[in-house]
Amino acid sequence: MAVTKSSSILVIGAGTWGTSTALHLARRGYTNVTVLDPYPVPSAISAGNDVNKVISKGQYSSDPNRMDVNEILGKQAMDAWFNDPLFKPFYHDTGLLMSACTETGMKRLGVRVRPGDKDENMVEMSTPEEFRKLAPSGVLRGNFPGWKGYFTRSGAGWAHARDALVAAAREAQRLGVKFVAGSPHGKVITLIFENNDVKGAVTADGKIWRADRTILCAGASAGQFLDFKQQLRPTAWTLAHIRLEPHERPLYKNIPIIFNIEKGFFFEPDEERGEIKMCDEHPGYTNMEPTPDGSSLASIPFERTQIPKECETRMRALLRETMPQLADRPFSFARVCWCADTPNREFIIDQHPQHPSLILGCGASGRGYKYLPSIGSLIVDTLEGKVSSRIREVVKWNPEGAVNRNWKDTLGRFGGPNEVMDFHNVKEWTHLKERNISKL
Ligand SMILES: Cc1cc2nc3c(=O)[nH]c(=O)nc-3n(C[C@H](O)[C@H](O)[C@H](O)COP(=O)(O)OP(=O)(O)OC[C@H]3O[C@@H](n4cnc5c(N)ncnc54)[C@H](O)[C@@H]3O)c2cc1C
Repeated sequence: MAVTKSSSILVIGAGTWGTSTALHLARRGYTNVTVLDPYPVPSAISAGNDVNKVISKGQYSSDPNRMDVNEILGKQAMDAWFNDPLFKPFYHDTGLLMSACTETGMKRLGVRVRPGDKDENMVEMSTPEEFRKLAPSGVLRGNFPGWKGYFTRSGAGWAHARDALVAAAREAQRLGVKFVAGSPHGKVITLIFENNDVKGAVTADGKIWRADRTILCAGASAGQFLDFKQQLRPTAWTLAHIRLEPHERPLYKNIPIIFNIEKGFFFEPDEERGEIKMCDEHPGYTNMEPTPDGSSLASIPFERTQIPKECETRMRALLRETMPQLADRPFSFARVCWCADTPNREFIIDQHPQHPSLILGCGASGRGYKYLPSIGSLIVDTLEGKVSSRIREVVKWNPEGAVNRNWKDTLGRFGGPNEVMDFHNVKEWTHLKERNISKL
């Protein structure tokens, strides 16, 4: 049956991509859309539930098809961050420094720079003085040892991730989308597999949600509902906050994002709490556990508002090189944050080949927030069968590309030990006061 504007559509997951999908469905006039999530927006386990995320036009790729996808999604997203009244209030055009310290790191950075991008908007930097001047107030006091990089002055910055996510969900709701949130009512336990198709989902309260189309946007948890044939690897990264004293906050305001692809990154403090968020950069952590039939291992996400001590050490090392005055300040918050990596870090946005009523919006691969305003458009195009073959080639369901997958593949990421770590090997965690992040 062809999809119509009154077809019943079930979206599983009200995180970054599920919310974007709900918004695009509503904006295109779909009238019977329900979104299920075990948490109210912003979900405590959504990767988008964060104080800030880097927003830029996306990575350069020498593959023209991959570049097409990046360009389309990136352009639509940047247009919205700059102009759409829904998203504009949450975007801060602070500029973005991308840097590295080793030759390999610089080579990788060079590949990311698009030909033609090195104009007056992008400045190459290589001396500590140049890096320190990025904060006119003088708060970047570090020695930046061995740092080199590229500073994009404008057209790149950060968005208040959680607030933009909540605004998008509210707008979808205003336009008629029904959000069923909280456990057990919104917590999906299984898809309904019937006649070689998917006909909806069942929630933990036993309710059966039949639907003409089901869209799976469950982020790192998507593998619970479908055999992805090794195409998804839930991978976690780590973040922490430092709270500044009220009198210090103006000095750190408007500093650009300082991003070192081998060490980590941080942002200006947020307005509400005056906290600087930082991440240590590394290829990620898995949590490998035996699969239920015991035949293999799979990475299983879990929620934790603490981080391994080794991450704290790396973050403090980053601060020592950049803002040593903050290197020994206590952390006010920390969290592990999960995303799902595909074998080539391309997204899986496709109609399932064996279950035609199931649409996949999965595999955000650690780079999916910036597309909050645009990703739902591609997911709804997929639902409507409007995606060009060139684009589909990049984002298609592709189990052949995951045969004998190497779960330890760094996927071109650097930092820490330069290898994928596993939480089972972590000896010590932080002991911070817990904060309820579904009620932030
Ligand atoms: C530390 C960190 C930093 C990042 N920084 C950036 C950045 O600077 N820029 C950028 O572009 N990207 C960044 N990313 C990546 C980005 O956050 C993700 O790619 C993006 O948020 C993924 O969106 P998603 O919708 O796939 O997953 P999520 O936003 O995680 O959403 C998944 C949703 O599924 C729901 N769900 C789970 N189980 C169920 C169930 N049983 N039933 C129903 N629903 C369920 C969850 O509650 C959640 O709401 C970062 C990621 C991390 C971890």
